[in-house]
Amino acid sequence: MAIECLVLGAGQDVGKSCVIVKINGKSIMFDCGIHTGYQDHRRYPDFSLISANSGDFTDSLSCIIITHFHLDHIGALPYFTQVCGYNGPIYMTYPTKALAPIMLEDYRKLIFEGREEEKQFSSEDIAECMKKVTAVDLKQTIQVDKDLQIRAYYAGHVIGAAMFYAKVGDSAMVYTGDYNMTADRHLGAAQIDRLQLDLVITESTYATSYRDSKYVREREFLKVVHNCVAGGGKVLIPTFALGRAQELCMILDDYWEKTNLKVPIYFSAGLTLQANMYYKILINWTSQKVKDTYTTRNPFDFKNVCSFDRSLIHAPGPCVLFATPAMISGFSLDVFKLWAPDERNLVTLTGYCGSGTIGRKLMVAKPPTRITLDDNVQLDVRCQIYQLSFSPHTDAKGIMDLVKFLSPKHVILVHGEKPKMVKLKEIIESELEIPCYHPANHETLHIPSTRRIEASASDAFLQSCLCPNFKFLKTDPRQDSELDDDSNNKRKMPQLQVCENRVAQGLLITLQKNQSRKVVTENELIDTIGTEIHEEKFAYCCPIYFPNSESRDISSFHLILFGKLSREFPDLNIQDCEDVIRIQSFVGSFCSKAKCPYRTDVSFQSVLDTVHFCCAWSMGDEELAWRVISTMKNLKLSDRIET
Ligand SMILES: [Zn+2]
Ligand SMILES: [Zn+2]
Ligand SMILES: [Zn+2]
Repeated sequence: MAIECLVLGAGQDVGKSCVIVKINGKSIMFDCGIHTGYQDHRRYPDFSLISANSGDFTDSLSCIIITHFHLDHIGALPYFTQVCGYNGPIYMTYPTKALAPIMLEDYRKLIFEGREEEKQFSSEDIAECMKKVTAVDLKQTIQVDKDLQIRAYYAGHVIGAAMFYAKVGDSAMVYTGDYNMTADRHLGAAQIDRLQLDLVITESTYATSYRDSKYVREREFLKVVHNCVAGGGKVLIPTFALGRAQELCMILDDYWEKTNLKVPIYFSAGLTLQANMYYKILINWTSQKVKDTYTTRNPFDFKNVCSFDRSLIHAPGPCVLFATPAMISGFSLDVFKLWAPDERNLVTLTGYCGSGTIGRKLMVAKPPTRITLDDNVQLDVRCQIYQLSFSPHTDAKGIMDLVKFLSPKHVILVHGEKPKMVKLKEIIESELEIPCYHPANHETLHIPSTRRIEASASDAFLQSCLCPNFKFLKTDPRQDSELDDDSNNKRKMPQLQVCENRVAQGLLITLQKNQSRKVVTENELIDTIGTEIHEEKFAYCCPIYFPNSESRDISSFHLILFGKLSREFPDLNIQDCEDVIRIQSFVGSFCSKAKCPYRTDVSFQSVLDTVHFCCAWSMGDEELAWRVISTMKNLKLSDRIET
């Protein structure tokens, strides 16, 4: 049994999230995003890899799950349903279903409008596509078919964002989508149940960043904006239509109220105001704090925000403008070109900027400077550039907290940059001891999955489970070493301690008459099949070079041997009791017989220089026994004894 993961997008990258997971014969597509960094076919996931031979996607997939309305998670959905012909079930939360058409329409206008040859999907396609979507509630268990179960959990990334749990038979997994482990102004923190999981596929946008308190960072943002407008400057905030825009609007609106600022705050398109209306309706999906204040006032009823008219670009005086899209192109680029040369103005970068975008160039720019626009035009940038340091994505600590909480058997990192993934993978593997992978696009991973077997247990076995679990505490071997000259130093006995964890050993048997399974003790099994215990033992009488052994005290030899073995096998419990050394099933003691049946090697130069140590062990410890014997043979006794 294995879980098969085919990464079609967001493998070692951010953009066009799309992972096909096959669990026990069921194929699920998690997210169906678009890559806004590409203008050609690479903007879509390579769907041809899903069904290499049949070409029928409805047959190949059990369902599609969309985690949230961001384009890198949903942008390719209308193309996949209306152009590629997928006609099976699609699931997303209610808010995602409500808001997705706004995002898709925004994108369609921006990219395809006016470029007939490029047209990939129309407004009608978006509408038709959304009709096929089944909206789900949080924590509602959906039976997709007889075997496949899915459930959504609050992700706290944007309104309606969800992590999805999927279970087929005994195998289960979680796909996180984008999430935030700390609450922000308008959303609560991600929340999920403790689940038994074979696999967690998690985003890793900020895989190596650790953030401090968000209040400090919010205050910093407000100070920068306030200073700019107080100095007569214009603030450009390029953002997606939904999510960030509403959160920042809340922060600014609240601040404007408190400080009685009269500078206008604009939203660039009617679309975003329509989005604000949805936020008012979807108040149940916001944070507890927002819901609590809702009784007196809907915090999405922005008092100081009005819609923007293009003619206002040239209007004098300070203002704040939210303009789409986030990474600066289209309308936000038009405004940027006009405002960037004025040093009083400010551009606020609100989130992740993909490589090749203007936003990315500004992240490293230090004004005054010149940057190259797409069409090789140089632009003077003298305005201030400010990068928001709070983000709707979890930081590294949040990812670690979630992975630790869920403790899956395997972790796959997607939606991030490779060098950061490599570092996070190391931390997950070393600190949490969970195997972790970061596949590239078009790579397929096979992960072992769980199959549970139901078995009854015998009374005797259950009783054996109740026995306290004793553990030997290790004594410090250095105190007993051959370097210690005080031979009167008493050999320390290992101390006993009762452990919390109990280990019970039993045998799983299948009963012939009804194929039922049962766990029994060893004795019960032997009784059942009517036989006796046979134990095979191996023995060897080991000669050890020990000069003038006749005149030496044999206990000093024991002391040296015990010290040496303790250092050689630090992880094993070595007992030295009444002149018998025991390590697991290995037993060894001084052999005084003149002729021992287990003695095969010839003695050293003289019988007087040789002692024998008789060793016995059972088959399971064969390898260990020969390592112990070789340690004995290499004991250097002569030097110390002669001096
Ligand atoms: Zn997102
Ligand atoms: Zn994303
Ligand atoms: Zn012997």
